[in-house]
Amino acid sequence: MKKGTKRYSIVKLKCPRCQIGNLFCKPGLMVFSNILEMPDKCPNCKQDFKQEPGYYTSALWVSYPIVLIIFIPLIVLGFTLDSLHSFFKYFYPIIIIFAFILQIPLMRIARAILLNMTIDYTTKW
Ligand SMILES: [Zn+2]
Repeated sequence: MKKGTKRYSIVKLKCPRCQIGNLFCKPGLMVFSNILEMPDKCPNCKQDFKQEPGYYTSALWVSYPIVLIIFIPLIVLGFTLDSLHSFFKYFYPIIIIFAFILQIPLMRIARAILLNMTIDYTTKW
């Protein structure tokens, strides 16, 4: 993956400005404590991550379409596979478990996408 692209910053959860500093105090997609804890500023380029109060509330609206893109095909597939009874007995619990597993990476990726929508990569910082 090429450094300097927004995709690099989003997938690696790096600062959108320098793409060196980590967005989160605990790096990685799957962590199980302090999942949304972020430093106030990038440890490398000092880019402010706390844009304004309530800024990351709008990350909900970034993750919402991602969830729809992932789960609507799964639900439609579940309904077309077999009867409605077997859907709720077998397929629905799998979707619920899958949703819980994806929760943490989706919240982190949504924040990274949101920051990348407003901050561009630069080598001059
Ligand atoms: Zn940075």
